[in-house]
Amino acid sequence: MSASRIDGNVLAKTIREEIAVKVKEHVARGNQPPGLATVLVGEDPASHVYVRNKRKACEHAGMVSFHHALPAMATQAELLALVQRLNNDPTVHGILVQLPLPKQIAEAAVIRALHPLKDVDAFHPENVGLLAAGQPRFLPCTPYGVQQMLARSSIATAGKQVTIIGRSNIVGKPLALIFMQKPSAAFPEAGDATVTVVHRGTRDLAALTRQADILIAAVGVPRFVQPEMVKPGSAVIDVGINSVDGKLVGDVHEDVAAVAGALSPVPGGVGPMTITMLLQNTLRAATIG
Ligand code: NAD
Repeated sequence: MSASRIDGNVLAKTIREEIAVKVKEHVARGNQPPGLATVLVGEDPASHVYVRNKRKACEHAGMVSFHHALPAMATQAELLALVQRLNNDPTVHGILVQLPLPKQIAEAAVIRALHPLKDVDAFHPENVGLLAAGQPRFLPCTPYGVQQMLARSSIATAGKQVTIIGRSNIVGKPLALIFMQKPSAAFPEAGDATVTVVHRGTRDLAALTRQADILIAAVGVPRFVQPEMVKPGSAVIDVGINSVDGKLVGDVHEDVAAVAGALSPVPGGVGPMTITMLLQNTLRAATIG
């Protein structure tokens, strides 16, 4: 068997075109274009690339982006003052503070300082709580991208066994919340699946991953998922982004393609979907704000 490819680039392009149409309609109704403020502290090269791509995608969709760069030595007080300014700026609908932040700045303090209605990453405790309560305001971008990849590939999650490798606050944990909950008018994206989360503390992890109809890898370990850990015919989503000898590789071994029924590639899988769902959240912030 050779898995069908869940192409994030193709899906992302379609969704971005849909968003661009909605942005045009929003502006035609006399509204300001949705505005996204990006904040970058320091010189991390990967963060620079991520922020540049997010800004470009924003502008392609007809939105406005405002970039703020602070030096690596910036203090927490300086960053909090900038966040406060952006919170109060009516042309800014979404604020993205690129993580990780330098050591002298507490990420949790910065996330709590964001206005929850402008928190397009959905990291603020109020937005995390709303998701956990089944009434999300925003879905975090990477898990939202994974949900859309499955939904738009007609891979149903209801009643399925979904196994997630990784329990981080930005990927694994919100993925579990999205896929386990019951769909409702307030939460149509909810997966209605049976969810298992496995992690570093899990015993006999492979026995659990082999039960998955849908397996999602968010581990951060190159080629962690081997073919013998995968149920034949299942759908496998690779969230991992790892650099190995200058090459981008995922958390899923290439040979899994011979076992899985569907597989998302790296690059060209979850990455472009993450940026796309940031655009979706920025448009939403502009319409609810
Ligand atoms: P993280 O380091 O915060 O969490 C990794 C999780 O994997 C942890 O919960 C840990 O328990 C688990 N884990 C690690 N090693 C393990 C092992 N040997 N056995 C079992 N479990 C193990 O990472 P994260 O922020 O959740 O990111 C995960 C991966 O996804 C990384 O490669 C990251 O670069 C990537 N990522 C991609 C996107 C995207 O847009 N495509 C976005 C965010 C993160």
